[in-house]
Amino acid sequence: MQILARCPACDAGLPVPARDAESAIRCGRCGRDIPLNVSDTLREGGAVDRCPVCQGSDFYRRKDFDPKVGLSVVIIGAVISAGFYWFGRDLLAYSILGGAALIDLVVYGRLKDLTVCYRCHTEFRGYPRTAAAFDLHVADALEQEYERKIGRR
Ligand SMILES: [Zn+2]
Ligand SMILES: [Zn+2]
Repeated sequence: MQILARCPACDAGLPVPARDAESAIRCGRCGRDIPLNVSDTLREGGAVDRCPVCQGSDFYRRKDFDPKVGLSVVIIGAVISAGFYWFGRDLLAYSILGGAALIDLVVYGRLKDLTVCYRCHTEFRGYPRTAAAFDLHVADALEQEYERKIGRR
């Protein structure tokens, strides 16, 4: 299990191993000390019950998607099919393009879920899927509450 703590001051992502998390970390970008309060359930990988950074207990899940990977597959496919198209092999060109799109879909389908804290956007990898899907209204309310709390608004 891996936690990506989000610095409240500068939004830098700070990787923290859940099991051996320290009681505080220092942000590598802005130097701010961030107290961590990792619950036992979190430490053992049982569930994401409380956020170690903001102590909130509202989370959503999303796909752990790296847009760069998906895009590069499509671009490589497009370049190869353009090459075939140039040599007058339209059918082959289209099928390669279609194949690249298909690979993209498969990659997306196999992505793991990621749990994210609504308030501070700390990310949790490798935990069971307990959180619900993203809800914009909840996000709006909780983000504002959090930003008021840390004095950003
Ligand atoms: Zn920072
Ligand atoms: Zn949080």
